[in-house]
Amino acid sequence: MESSRERIPLHVGGKAGPTRTARPSPRSSMGRARGMSLCVLGSGSGGNCSVVRFDADEHRGLGRPSEEAGAGQAQAILIDAGFGPFTTRRRLEQAGLTLDSLAAICLTHLDRDHWRGNWKQTTLAKRIPIYVHRWHQKSFSRLPEGADLIEAGLVRPFGDTFSPIDSLEVTAVHLPHDQKGTIGFRLDYHTGPSRVSLGYATDLGAAPPELIDRFSGDGGLDLLAIESNYDPELQSRSDRPAFLKRRIMGELGHLSNEQSFQVVRGIMDASPTGCPRWVVLLHRSRQCNHPDRVREVFGRDDRLAGRVILTDQRRRSAWIRLEPRAAVITAQQCLFDGPKRIENREAESA
Ligand SMILES: [Zn+2]
Repeated sequence: MESSRERIPLHVGGKAGPTRTARPSPRSSMGRARGMSLCVLGSGSGGNCSVVRFDADEHRGLGRPSEEAGAGQAQAILIDAGFGPFTTRRRLEQAGLTLDSLAAICLTHLDRDHWRGNWKQTTLAKRIPIYVHRWHQKSFSRLPEGADLIEAGLVRPFGDTFSPIDSLEVTAVHLPHDQKGTIGFRLDYHTGPSRVSLGYATDLGAAPPELIDRFSGDGGLDLLAIESNYDPELQSRSDRPAFLKRRIMGELGHLSNEQSFQVVRGIMDASPTGCPRWVVLLHRSRQCNHPDRVREVFGRDDRLAGRVILTDQRRRSAWIRLEPRAAVITAQQCLFDGPKRIENREAESA
């Protein structure tokens, strides 16, 4: 059953809009906000990179969450670096940040659409630590840039939990994908007595029970970012080689729209009421998926109305700001029209 709610136009998935430099919204440049924000700089098989910004001006060592933050004032981390530094810097600047804002790069896995070796010079010059799961440590050391980055002390292997900046606790969830698997992240950012939580899972052939537990337990998530990679019919009809279709649709491949929907519902069912407040869909295939197909699937659950946000390969998403148990989205990028009108003040996007 499809949602009968009036739809708003999608600003993603089709032809990319004009690129323009976005100024931080007045709200985001005030420096008083406390919480965590996500901006997906781009997502898809051509590259994946998201930036998480920490909006706590009383946070030691953190600057104001805007371009006012000077060099060295680390205030954000990247999840994956699947675009080179040039593209990443451009999209970061459009989002009001610079490469100097980066306190860490956290990698889900080492596929080329998640880590680009041409980050070597930039990470060395700016001393940006790269968090690599123990599973991927050996593979990283064999990359052409691996030895130099390890020798420079920039590669930080992690296990079940790690903390790339103060007040942030990251929990790793092991996910099945190809030979080495991929890592899902739960980020819990402590702001005073409260906390905001974000879950991030991409490139998984299936969702193990642990993922549902981690993402629904301990108060649930404010935001869930998860891949919704392909539509099975479009995948089967595509002219891709049979082995590739089998890989993608297999247990060690990617989540289809339907599989992703079921995982999202599983997490919602097991979560405290109202969690997650936002669902951000990642890694949509351009060849084997379409926003309409995604809408058809996710529109079957009314709880998701007004919560689902699509991302795009070629341009960044809006900032999604999470405050303790309150979320504000600063641009119109929602998949459905929700019960509450979303704000549309920040002329997005780029
Ligand atoms: Zn990928």
